[in-house]
Amino acid sequence: EHIANQIAAGEVVERPASVVKELVENAMDAGSTVIEVSVEEGGLHSIRVTDNGSGIEPDDCETAFYRHATSKISQGRDLFQITSLGFRGEALPSIAAVSKVTLTTSSNTDGRGRRIVIEGGQLKVNEDTAAPRGTDFIVKELFYNTPARLKYMKTIQTELGHISDYMYRLALSRADIAFTVRHNGNVLLQTMGGGDTRNVIAAIYGTGTAKAMLPIEAEDMDYRISGFISRPDWTRANRNAMSFIVNGRYIRSYALTQAVLRGYHTMLPINRYPLMVMKLDMHPSLVDVNVHPSKLEVRFSKEAELTALIQEAVQKVLMQEVL
Ligand code: ADP
Ligand code: MG
Repeated sequence: EHIANQIAAGEVVERPASVVKELVENAMDAGSTVIEVSVEEGGLHSIRVTDNGSGIEPDDCETAFYRHATSKISQGRDLFQITSLGFRGEALPSIAAVSKVTLTTSSNTDGRGRRIVIEGGQLKVNEDTAAPRGTDFIVKELFYNTPARLKYMKTIQTELGHISDYMYRLALSRADIAFTVRHNGNVLLQTMGGGDTRNVIAAIYGTGTAKAMLPIEAEDMDYRISGFISRPDWTRANRNAMSFIVNGRYIRSYALTQAVLRGYHTMLPINRYPLMVMKLDMHPSLVDVNVHPSKLEVRFSKEAELTALIQEAVQKVLMQEVL
């Protein structure tokens, strides 16, 4: 069990940003409307995620750290019906195996909650405590007991870069949630909630950029596309400013990126890229999110149809702008 957790940790927890991603996705799954992330020293020293979501029942707190205890997959076909971001029950046990975790949570509004401390997979504290409704995770000294892994960590700036990149995408995927991200006490990102993606774009890239975004919309029998793409005169020098959100989940996709670029480059030079946020909604059976433990990559069952729709939608928006 212990070894299994450390092995799983290697897959799920690659670096501080993976911890941030898993904790924030859990907070999103818990129906939170306010999520605060505070990291110290690029997350290598500590990572804290606080939410106002459902909280965890006192008796469920310890089991949340057991591998697959909470897996939401009960039958093979369930994989195609996943609507929550998490579903493997792998993240918390993996994180707890390679760090020192303090969980404080309450699932009610009368101030009663539970506090758990786990270090290197060992339960140290499990006690009643006063807590507001919601959940607070503090993860300290990531990889303290796996020196080989620790050695591979890059500079604080690099690790922080990965964290802010994830947080930007997660904030873009959920404009209805108010996110705050701090590094060593300094605010890196603050969004207001309220549901307007343009406001999130403004918070990340500035109001000028937000104003230079064109709405993009398309639809066929299987897919609904909505989002924003930058005006032709507002291009980027790199392709990382494209975000795809599939059924509310931020994903990476080579095929979809290529589809956007095919549409984009029929109108614009090939060394320029758009800033883009594209939301794609489809029946869960059309997308398989279970390709990799970190769930960043997905598989589409009608990929050719989807990429054609995307390319056409991008071309159409730019065409209207250029004409
Ligand atoms: P998964 O997200 O795949 O179910 P995790 O290991 O990430 O597995 O989390 C285990 C369980 O702990 C979740 O299924 C959820 O029930 C509970 N949990 C974790 N974080 C939170 C949170 N912030 N708020 C409420 N419940 C949480
Ligand atoms: Mg999870």
